[in-house]
Amino acid sequence: MASKSKSTHNEPGDEAAESTESESALETARRQLYHAASHLDLDSSIVERLKHPKKVHEVTVPIERDDGTVEVFTGYRAQHDSVRGPFKGGLRFHPAVSRDECVGLGMWMTWKCAVMDLPFGGAKGGIAVNPKELSSAEKERLTRRFAQEIRDVIGPNQDIPAPDMGTDPQTMAWLMDAYSMQEGETTPGVVTGKPPVVGGSEGREEAPGRSVAIVTQLVCEYYDRDLKETTVAVQGYGSVGANAARLLDDWGATIVAISDVNGAMYEPEGIDTSSVPSHDEEPEAVTKYADTVISNDKLLTLDVDVLIPAALGNVITKENAKTITADFVVEGANGPITSTGDSILVERDIAVIPDILANAGGVTVSYFEWLQDINRRKWSLERVNDELETEMEAAWDAVRSEFEQRDVTWREAAYIVALSRIAEAHETRGLWP
Ligand code: NAD
Repeated sequence: MASKSKSTHNEPGDEAAESTESESALETARRQLYHAASHLDLDSSIVERLKHPKKVHEVTVPIERDDGTVEVFTGYRAQHDSVRGPFKGGLRFHPAVSRDECVGLGMWMTWKCAVMDLPFGGAKGGIAVNPKELSSAEKERLTRRFAQEIRDVIGPNQDIPAPDMGTDPQTMAWLMDAYSMQEGETTPGVVTGKPPVVGGSEGREEAPGRSVAIVTQLVCEYYDRDLKETTVAVQGYGSVGANAARLLDDWGATIVAISDVNGAMYEPEGIDTSSVPSHDEEPEAVTKYADTVISNDKLLTLDVDVLIPAALGNVITKENAKTITADFVVEGANGPITSTGDSILVERDIAVIPDILANAGGVTVSYFEWLQDINRRKWSLERVNDELETEMEAAWDAVRSEFEQRDVTWREAAYIVALSRIAEAHETRGLWP
């Protein structure tokens, strides 16, 4: 088992259902704030300010359906804090989108950008709609109308949306186009996660998985484990899981299990990850390529060095946390461990590297995309990956330093780094007027 851990914390992620066993995204985000603040000597008015979003925009988004009828949806953009720079965060199209969820997830983006030391604050938004019930043309009309409704409050220096659940690079291209048409000039920096042909960055898609792999490597180094003698199980073989598994495989780790929604492939001698198609390449096909299939529940309990839950939220809970036998858990998904599950892992001395650090490669390469857009200068894939590695190492070092000095968990250390930076910026800027 790993050594040096305590505490019980978790945060909301990009998924609606990713809050803890009994908490909403907003409750979880606030609990994280209070907990990190309890380790720091902060002006209480700063904590009070951070409890609340700076602004929440609620808009009505009417669209004409393909059959000629008009349907009206509700959209939100919650802007939590911008003391360190423009608001940044995803836009999701999902039936469960609500004001409070956007506020909670926007707060969580504030912490994530700060732990990576990006010059951004946090925001989240979306529309309460089931995108699977919309045609592509309807989705385009919805996106363009939403862009118009929130146009005054977004912009490359104000608030920069990105894809999230139910939205994708194409959605961002429509949003960018709608905004640019109204501004009278092409403004690629208004959103990130665009297709590269309209100002998106190379390496953006694989960045969250790459950061998970980099952090796994750093954890192994820290605990004196040779990556070449490290066994890894990865739940979820999508954008995050497959990219993380393939990179770790390339770097010499033994990937003994990978999975999708249908079950897990288990090869104790190691899987050739490049021969198994990712979710994007062939959806839900992992078990088709497996000689030995085990359940997703079993994958979580395998006796491996590193477990990477990279599918969805709340998979390690009070019910199964006692059965986890990995030494380290690196959170690839957002919020894969419930609050109670986290406490149990901590008691059992299993080191958990939190999602706000581990999968932050996505927002970090979004930052690179924004830099490329505002400078009108494209970076090579090699440069993106090199700079991502540098940023991940710097964030890791900052978190490691708090972890060592304060004798806290990795999760607490990450939140302490984030909150100290945000609070210091508030103190330095002061209160206006
Ligand atoms: P994805 O859709 O590309 O892949 C998801 C994978 O999980 C698929 O292989 C799917 O079969 C599998 N899966 C779905 N339900 C499952 C279940 N019940 N049990 C086991 N496997 C299941 O998704 P993704 O983009 O890789 O995202 C995965 C997680 O990472 C989510 O929590 C997401 O919020 C988070 N995340 C994604 C990004 C990103 O930019 N893609 C960034 C940060 C965090």
